[in-house]
Amino acid sequence: MWIDTHTHLWDEQFDKDRKEILDSLGGKLKYIIEIGVDSKTSQKAVTLAYKNERVFAVVGVHPHDAKHLTEDVFKLVTDLSKMDKVVGIGEIGLDFYKNYSSEEKQRKCFIRFLNYARESNLPVVLHVRDAYEHVLDILNTEGIPKAGGVVHSFLSSYNHAKKFLDLNLFLGIGGPITFKKNSSLRDTLKKIPIEKILLETDCPYLTPVPKRGHRNDPAYVEYVAQEISKTKNIPILDVEEILYENTTTLFGLPKC
Ligand SMILES: [Zn+2]
Repeated sequence: MWIDTHTHLWDEQFDKDRKEILDSLGGKLKYIIEIGVDSKTSQKAVTLAYKNERVFAVVGVHPHDAKHLTEDVFKLVTDLSKMDKVVGIGEIGLDFYKNYSSEEKQRKCFIRFLNYARESNLPVVLHVRDAYEHVLDILNTEGIPKAGGVVHSFLSSYNHAKKFLDLNLFLGIGGPITFKKNSSLRDTLKKIPIEKILLETDCPYLTPVPKRGHRNDPAYVEYVAQEISKTKNIPILDVEEILYENTTTLFGLPKC
């Protein structure tokens, strides 16, 4: 049974079939981890987690939304993080590709939640785009939570992968690993130990081959897993077992 470690089912693209997707959990998918990006979606993620025992929530403020971080937002999100179905802080990080918030606001927001996660000993879910060195600098200066974390949708070189692995972080692999053009990412994946990989969709975004052109769906983690199995030449049943162990350990999910 698979775990999708990064979903955004609160997105309106799921309004029509969210219930169906949730009802299907316990079939091919054992758990999903629903990720907030601001106070509103963090609240929605928590609500979903309390509606379904197979859903867990991660709460935080995405770098895109850093400009909206107020004391009220910080308090709301950190209050949510104390609930027992909340298993991490995120997504937090830096995105210097889109720069929807200024670099300064992104840094402030990231550092504040990173420090909160460390004090609360919660794992972090990191969003990094065109800012790998900057994020590594901050992680090295501020320190990472003992509980660890994951660089979600990792898309960079082995050089960067190695630096995150040295910090004992996991790397989240999703739909882009199946894209034809991403052969260098597959070469990087060959060198990343399977014990440090998490499986994710980032749905409704980043739909894997062969479903490109459609909305992404948690069930499609299986296509990502098949690509990992093929690229790393590890039998799919072993991939399933190891990724399950990785995820339940990092986020403290029930292992049964
Ligand atoms: Zn995401």
